[in-house]
Order: sequence, then structure tokens, then C-alpha cells
Amino acid sequence: MFKNFIFLLLCPAFIFGLNKYLIELDFNLTEKALSGKEIITFTNTYNFPIKSLYFNLYQNGFQENSTLWKESSFLSRYKEKFKEDVYSYTEISNILFEKNKLEYKFVSPDDGNLEDKTLMEVVLPRTIFPEEEVELEIYFKTKLHKFYFRSGYDGDNLFLMQWYPKLCVFEGGKWKAHQFHSFTEFYGEFSDFEINFKVPFEWEIVSTGKIFEEKVEKEKKVKIVAENVHDIAIVLSKELKKIKKSITITQDNPIEINIFIPSEYTNKVPRIMEILNKAFNFYNDWVGPYLYSNFSLVFPPWHTSQGEGGMEYPQLILCGIRHFEGTRNLVLEYVIAHEFAHQYFYGLIGSDEVEEPWLDEGFTTFISSTFLEKYYGDIKIDMPLILKLNSIKNFYINPFIFINLNYYRDEGIGQFLLEGFQHPDYLNYRIYAYNKPAMSLKTLEKYAGEEQMKQFLQDYFSNYSFLHPHTEDLIKLIEKNFGIGWAQNFYNLANKPQLIDYSAEIISENKFVLKRKGEFYVPLQVKVIFADGTKETLNWDGYKNFQIFTFQNKKLKKVIVDPERKILLDIDPLNNISNYKKEKNNFFFFLFSKIILLLEGMLCWF
Ligand SMILES: [Zn+2]
Repeated sequence: MFKNFIFLLLCPAFIFGLNKYLIELDFNLTEKALSGKEIITFTNTYNFPIKSLYFNLYQNGFQENSTLWKESSFLSRYKEKFKEDVYSYTEISNILFEKNKLEYKFVSPDDGNLEDKTLMEVVLPRTIFPEEEVELEIYFKTKLHKFYFRSGYDGDNLFLMQWYPKLCVFEGGKWKAHQFHSFTEFYGEFSDFEINFKVPFEWEIVSTGKIFEEKVEKEKKVKIVAENVHDIAIVLSKELKKIKKSITITQDNPIEINIFIPSEYTNKVPRIMEILNKAFNFYNDWVGPYLYSNFSLVFPPWHTSQGEGGMEYPQLILCGIRHFEGTRNLVLEYVIAHEFAHQYFYGLIGSDEVEEPWLDEGFTTFISSTFLEKYYGDIKIDMPLILKLNSIKNFYINPFIFINLNYYRDEGIGQFLLEGFQHPDYLNYRIYAYNKPAMSLKTLEKYAGEEQMKQFLQDYFSNYSFLHPHTEDLIKLIEKNFGIGWAQNFYNLANKPQLIDYSAEIISENKFVLKRKGEFYVPLQVKVIFADGTKETLNWDGYKNFQIFTFQNKKLKKVIVDPERKILLDIDPLNNISNYKKEKNNFFFFLFSKIILLLEGMLCWF
């Protein structure tokens, strides 16, 4: 508790968020819609006069000609299935500012799509000056679509995700205003929310924040209060079972856990709690304390969400029920660990998921793959029967490598820093926002050691919780923790498209050459095996892009660069061995392609 207390003192923004939302809601459960009055209090805490405000209306992404739909051909299957119920909207009926009705318009800075209504500009009748606090009243109606792509309704289940007019983040003298895209997620300002509504008594609710309920005749009066979060998700259901649990990391700070789950899966709750307990302890040890007092896991019913993987919201995650059904090991463990890790890398450390997705996905993938490695050990890969009959046996693989195998599916050339929606396809987004950053952080850990890595993550956490760090902040922190060389490496990885590859080649009986491709400089070990059977280990600073080594009285047999395989970023580990061409075994590639096939089904979490 003492540690937490000191921590809170170091986080000036903890007690209150920057913006305040007071939202009164009126549900129409038959129509699967809600009407809302949103009073948003905005304080200009920036040193710039502000003349307009930008809001995201993400629900409008679910419209026929929206940018989200245009970018997501995979959504068309829902059109066939749900017909007109596939579309939904948030409609604005009125915006008031100092009793004046304001005009608004939709803008599309990312792609010029005039039919996209996910970004709204509200021009103010006067300038808001620094330090000034203003209030805006927005009247809106949100209609939900039949559940797909993480939100919507199905029967008596309502999943309200990105459902209200949400003010964008103002940074560096401008609004970070983007439309809703297929690969990109969200960026919001730390805010305080109070939401009030009524529902029939038999409905259960799980949400970001704390829920206060009061029975009024046949209804339930609900107040949700969430402090210092940058989004708010609410799930209402007559079908799901709400199970309350708690996790205690420090004696006087128990965390309330709500699990919202179909009744046929309640026998899985002990497994869920075991994973969560491990994850809370692991992240507490590696990164820092979970600074909120509640956390919820929602498992949408099978009929609602067959295709869903997982998704993060502040203090709440969605997890696909199919992870209980699969035969593959540890998928449920990984999805929960991954989405929960986002509570740190996105939730508490509020980096920009749209413009710098590597900051949340890269760190989340690194820490959750490391979690799996620490707690669960190597993953057993069960070969399909047909392969077993061809005497290809089951084998074990390190879970960190397994989760990030995608990295080796491409040339590995992309840089980290790219707006999510600029990636050419989903695999490219996965590799350069998730896997390459995770492999880079693991390489750093292998060089610096686990304790140094923990210290660095704790430093990141204590400096940037409840703030919006950017790539340059992180690089400064890497320099502070690991020195200028590593800062330079991460700068290069973030900004420059490049392939990282080391190789060794024997060029005559007593000479070999080491080569380096890409701007990633680390000292390396080199193992040299001579024809007479003797061995030697050399150190190479790895700085030149090639270097020749000569031995006067010895014949070379084999040279291996980076024999301990510290540089996971090395895209072609086979050419690290001098005579790999002779040893290159088609069987290896065959097996590898099988692993990739097994992986296909896992590419579904966010
Ligand atoms: Zn993620």
C-alpha cells in the first residue's frame, strides 16, 4: 500500500481525469437503441487557444460506405447474414454551447471519404483560451447493429463499445483526429465519467468503472462512475451470468473482478481466475501495481460472437468463448494475458493506438508472451495424424517464439512507426506493430538481463501512467536505462525500414567473413570450430557491415555467429552457420510451414 501511495503522489493526474462526461441515457431495448444527453466539461489545459472541437462517432463506422467498411472486405459475410441489421449509427440531434446551438460537420482527413461520419468537427462561436473551462451539451441517439466486430446486440445482450460522442485528444497544439479504420484502434483523453440510466430489474451490467444499482419498482436505477479512464465500455445482458470474485495483491487493496459469462461455461471460472491471479502477480512484479480497483472479463455468448478473439477496454476485456473450445494449448491463457496486459500498455500508459500502435501492441505482446514463457513453459505442438503417420513427431516450442512466429513470415523489413491504417494488410500490421517490436524488446532483454528489463518497464510505468507517451519519449527512456547504443537501435527500428540479418561464411580454409544487414548494432559472440576439432569463441563488435577474420595455422570447419541466438530479430538464423547451405534441410521448412498453418487460427486477438 505504501508503495502505491507514493506512486499515486507521483501521478498528478490520478485523482481526476482531464475531461468530464455526465451522460444520461434512455434505453429502448426493443429497438436496441439508446438516446443520450452528454454534458462534457472540457478544460483548456494547453497553451493554445482552441477554436474547434473534434469528436469521434465510432458507431458510424458501421455504415455501408464508411471507411471501416470500405477497408474491411472480411465484413461482407456479416452483410449476407444480418441484412440491414449489419448497419448502425450515432446520430446527433443537437449540440449546445452557452445556450447556443452549434453547427457540426463530418470530416475525413485520412482518406477524403465524404460518406464517412466517424469524425465530427464542431466549430465554436468563440475561442476557448488556456485555463478556461467550458461545457458542451450533446444530444445523440445510438442504434446498435447485430453483434460483429466486437460490438452490437444479440437477443438480450447489448455490447456498448465506442458508442458515445468521444472527444479526441489535443496534443502539441493540434487535435489528434482520425476516422475509424479497419486495423486501427482508439485514442482518448483521460477523463471522468458518470453515466445514469434505468433498465428492467432482471438485466445485469458490467462496465468500465464502478456500478451502483438501486431497485425502483420493476426497474434498476444504475449509476456508473469511472475515474481517469480514456474510454468507457458497458455490457448489459439478461442472458449472461455475472460472477463476482476478487484478487488481492496487497492486503489492503483488493481488486474486484466481475466475470460475465454464459451459464454453460461457469465451470471454467476457476481456470479463468487462475490465469488472472498469475497475470496480476506477474505484471505487478514486472511493470507495476494495477492502479484501479476493479476489472471485468466478458465472454459473449457463442451464438453472438463465434469469430471474436479478444479486445481491450479500460478495466474491461472481451474474450472469445471459442478459446474454451479449441484443442490448442494455452490460447485462452494467452488471450487473457494479452488483453489484460493492455490495461498497462494502453489503459494506464495511454499511448496512441492509432498513430503509434507499436507502443501498445508491441509492449503488450512482449510482456504477455514473456508471461506465457515464465508460467507455462514450452508449448507442445501436436502434429496432425497424417504427419504422425509419416513419422513426424509432436514437438515443443518456446511460447515467446511461437506467439511471434509471424515475424518470420515476411521479409521483416518494415519499421515500427506507422499509423495503423497505413499498413497494406492485416498480417503486415500484426508483424510490425506486434511481433517485430516484441522480438526487439526480447533481444534487448537477452542482452541486458531480466532485472534490467523489469526496471525499465517500471520506469516507463511510473513516468507515463495517466499520460500519453510517444516513441521519442520511449527512446529517451531506453537511453537512460540501457545507454545510447540501444536508443540508437530502437530509433532505427522505429523509423527506418530495414531487414536485420547477420551471417557467417567461410571464404577460404583459414578465413571467414561475418556480415551484417540493417542498422542494428550489437556486440556478438562468434563460435569457431576448427578442422582439428578445437573450438574458440570470439567477440565481434558488430559495427562494420562486414569483417574478415584470418587464422594463420589453423583450418576452419564451421563458424557460428550469435550461437546463443540472442538476436531474435535476425530474420534468417540459418545463415548464421557458415556451411548452412550444405546442412539446409527441406524438412525444416516443411515443418515450419506446418507450424505456420497451425498458427493461422490464432491470428484473431487484438
Ligand atoms: Zn493487443
